[in-house]
Amino acid sequence: MQIPEVEISERALLSSAKTALIIVDMQNDFVHEDGALSVPAAAATVAPIAGLLERARSAGAKVIFTQDWHSPDDPEFSIWPRHAVAESWGAEIVEELAPLAGETLIRKLRYDAFYGTPLAHLLHTWGIENTVIVGTVANICVLHTAGSAALRWYRVILPRDGVSALSDFDMHAALRQVSFLYQGMITTTEGVVFS
Ligand code: ZN
Repeated sequence: MQIPEVEISERALLSSAKTALIIVDMQNDFVHEDGALSVPAAAATVAPIAGLLERARSAGAKVIFTQDWHSPDDPEFSIWPRHAVAESWGAEIVEELAPLAGETLIRKLRYDAFYGTPLAHLLHTWGIENTVIVGTVANICVLHTAGSAALRWYRVILPRDGVSALSDFDMHAALRQVSFLYQGMITTTEGVVFS
């Protein structure tokens, strides 16, 4: 079986007024080694995401943090171990990427950050055209959110060093879906340049 290659673009030049950086589920339960559903590869993405976040903030681009947010008896716990329970330490965004006052936090019930949340409304009212999506897990919440953005005709830019998965297979599958099916651009965090 031939595994398709995924093209990595060197640079994505984006208008800061029309771009939202969406940081998906960088919460203690997924990113911290003591988290309930720790993704070992996520730790290495914190620094690249922090760099991109700083540049997005100084360029004046919109920044959105998604936060998996479950009740203690959420049906998702029939699929996964208990994680991201509302108000718990595990549900908090990791301190290195803590949102600033006034930045948007989207609390979500499922993998897709658009589902049951005001995200579509906010992107629309802000006049956003481009979504730069980083975070975890590549083929789960990142992919569902990227797909949902693309279905609404937002352009999706995925910096691969800002995304983590539980396996190389899952990572590659997510990049392939974004680049092929959703016609998104795969680049790096350094490759994202705000104008
Ligand atoms: Zn969850």
